[in-house]
This record gives sequence, C-alpha cells and structure tokens, in this order.
Amino acid sequence: MKNIAGKTIDEWTGAHPVIGEMMKAEEVFWVNPAYGPVGEAETGLSIDDMKDAEARLRRFAPYIATVFPETEPSGGIIESPLKEIPEMKKWLEQEAGVRIPGQLMLKCDSHLPISGSVKARGGIYEVLKHAEDLALGHGLLNESDDYSVLAEPRFLEFFSRYSITVGSTGNLGLSIGIMSAKMGFRVTVHMSSDAKEWKKNMLREKGVNVVEHPDDYSKAVEEGRRQSEADPDDHFVDDENSKTLFFGYSVAAMRLKKQLEEQGIEIGEERPLFVYLPCGVGGGPGGIAFGLKQVFGDHVHCFFAEPTHAPCMLLGLVTGKHDKVSVQDFGLDNKTDADGLAVGRPSGFVGNVMERLLAGSFTVGDERLYRLLAKMSELEGIRLEPSALAGVPGAVHVAESGFEAAFRPGMKDRMDHAVHIAWATGGGMVPDDVMESYIERGRE
Ligand SMILES: *Cc1c(COP(=O)(O)O)cnc(C)c1O
Repeated sequence: MKNIAGKTIDEWTGAHPVIGEMMKAEEVFWVNPAYGPVGEAETGLSIDDMKDAEARLRRFAPYIATVFPETEPSGGIIESPLKEIPEMKKWLEQEAGVRIPGQLMLKCDSHLPISGSVKARGGIYEVLKHAEDLALGHGLLNESDDYSVLAEPRFLEFFSRYSITVGSTGNLGLSIGIMSAKMGFRVTVHMSSDAKEWKKNMLREKGVNVVEHPDDYSKAVEEGRRQSEADPDDHFVDDENSKTLFFGYSVAAMRLKKQLEEQGIEIGEERPLFVYLPCGVGGGPGGIAFGLKQVFGDHVHCFFAEPTHAPCMLLGLVTGKHDKVSVQDFGLDNKTDADGLAVGRPSGFVGNVMERLLAGSFTVGDERLYRLLAKMSELEGIRLEPSALAGVPGAVHVAESGFEAAFRPGMKDRMDHAVHIAWATGGGMVPDDVMESYIERGRE
C-alpha cells in the first residue's frame, strides 16, 4: 500500500473519517479538536511585527496616494468596505432551512484598490518593504521622510537595478507585478496553468515578464525560486514561507476593528465574531486570522474555506503533516475554477501557526461557488470571482453544527448578537465579459 507521510490511506481514513469524505470530493465541515484559548497557542510570532507592518504602510501612504490616485480618498491607505448582506443571509437561510443567528457581513477585499484582491494586502506590502530596505540601506531614504519622494525618477532609476520574482495562481502575480512595475523594479511572474488569460495579459501590458508553466502552482513557485536564487539582485516573494507577506495580511485585523467600531459594533463577550476565510496556500487567510486572534482574542472564531478538489490546508491540519502531504497524495486532482485557491500543498509555516488558533474549516464545490456568485450579484449587487465566495456558506455550517454549544458553553444565548463575516477575497479586476460568463454559469 502507498505510504503517505508514514501511514497508508486506510490508516489515515480510519483515524480521521473526514479524510475519506474529502477523498470523494464531498463538502465537509470540520471543527478543529486542537482549537484552544489564544493564550495557549505557541506561534513563535509577535504582535510587534504586526504593528511594525501597520506603521510601515502608514509611512508609505503618501507615496501610494501619489502614484495610485484612486487611493487619495483614504489618504493612500489600501482598504476595502465592510458591508452587511441581509438579502444574501435570507437566501442562505431559506436554502439551508436553518436560522443564522446574528448578522452577516461581507469584507470586500474584492474591491481593494490597485489589484482588486486580498493580495493587495500582503503582496503590495512585501514589495514596499523590500523597496524600503533597499532605499534605507543605500542611505537614500530616512524613515522620517515624506515617502512620496519615492515617486521621483531617481528612485525609479535606482529600483530598476533590482528585480522581483514570484510564482502565482494569478492574483499574487497581479499585486506583485503592478506594484513592482510602478516602483521601477524589473519583475517576473511565474504563472501556473490555471491562471486566467486576462490576468497574464493585464500584467504584460504593464511591462511585467510573465512566464507560463504547464504545471500547477507548486511547480510555478519552484521554478521561480530556482531562477531567483541565481541572481543576487533578485528578491523572491515566497508565497509559501514569507513572514513579510503574512504580517502584511495581518494588518487587516486592526483595520477591521476600527471599521466595526465605526459601525457601532463592539466585539466582546456579549458579541462574538465569526470570520470565514477562503484559503489557498494559507498566507492570506493565515495572516488575517493570526491578526484577528491578536486583536479580538477568544471572542473571534476563524474558519478556512477551500475547494472540494483542493483542500490542501485542511488535509495538512487533519493529518498534522502540513506541507508533507498534498491533495494529489489523497487522489484529488487540484482542479477548480476557484483559481486563487487551486493549491495542492499548503504552507507548512502557516499550518503550524494555525494548529491551535483555527476554529475549523470547510470545503465548497465549484457548482456552489458559481451559484453563490450569481446570487451575490443578483441580491446584493456585488460581483466576485469564484474563489471569493468560498467563505459565504460558513455561517450556515456554524448554525447547523451547534458549534457554539459544543465549544463555548454559555455562548448560545449570545449568538443572536453574533457577527459573521465572509471574507470576499477577489473579483474587482475581472473583465465584464468574463464576469457575465461566471454569472450565467451560476444561474444555470
Ligand atoms: C490568494 C487568494 C486566496 C487565498 O490566499 P492564500 O494566501 O493563497 O491562502 C483567496 N482568494 C483569492 C481570490 C486569492 O487570490
């Protein structure tokens, strides 16, 4: 029998029946047995790094406002709206025949400025941090300067001596490509076979070197890494291991707290928060979830959502083997239209961090993603790409499973005040004709 990280398939499914369901590409809901108080989770990461990232993004704000005028209204801070989606909530309740206690909101990272996906958090942050390191290191910049000077030709010339490389299923490539090209870096994006044609074209138009790979995401990353290592002036953005990306994402939590407060919502003992995050390799949802646990402590419960054909993080967590297992090991094909989530092997770094912080996880089939996509457009007028819908069924799972009764005795009475947030991770850049075909498919 084939051996997967020390056990046969039968041994794995015997110990964890959910793996058997996942191998049939069924939709599953999993509550993390290791989920515990945030104070007991040993992540080896510090909240100071998160604050450092937040401060860095503030230093760069005058520059961002200068080179991306669409960010002027927010003073160069790249942030997205938080919206209540009551019609969608009603529809979900009818469909599932279950009442969702509390309110349902959508965090519209789909409409983040510059690159229209959650990658505008981590990806752009990593390029900015690299640029700052270089400029500070060469004595061209001080932290106390007005960073809008970085838009001057002398900086474009300086950064053009350096290059940046990344491997991506699409959206990370867009964020890294757009930001790097804007600053003057030479930039190469290694795209996996599932990356959409329009994403490659858009990057090429911006002067980005796009390398296409016939294989999946992991191969594109591997090839990018290999080529980067040969060049000392190249910076490789490591989607699987980068702490910089991770902390860039984590800043979302501090911003979310402020947005909730502006809407008169205070999370605490009486008002628990549930957040549902679409997960690919894990950096984005992991960084955000880590940040949320630092900011809201035990009052927030984070769940990851993955495609039924690519549940890499969930397999890593259930087996405890993280990046030592892949979806292919368990007979899954990693084929999904949720291209942002088409990842066969999770980040080991993120898997380890999430072991005790994550409340649970669930999988979603492509047909459901399309159906939700069409409904979100029809009922709320919000247009998302398939990946971005993955978190939406989360509130139904929590309502159906009695999660709160089993894991937080006493919380049941407070569920009527609960806030559920589905994190909509992308869609803002999708061309109209592509979006129409998504909606059409969802209507069928
Ligand atoms: C990248 C991406 C995610 C997941 O982020 P990871 O860091 O890969 O886990 C989710 N949704 C969309 C649209 C994405 O592009």
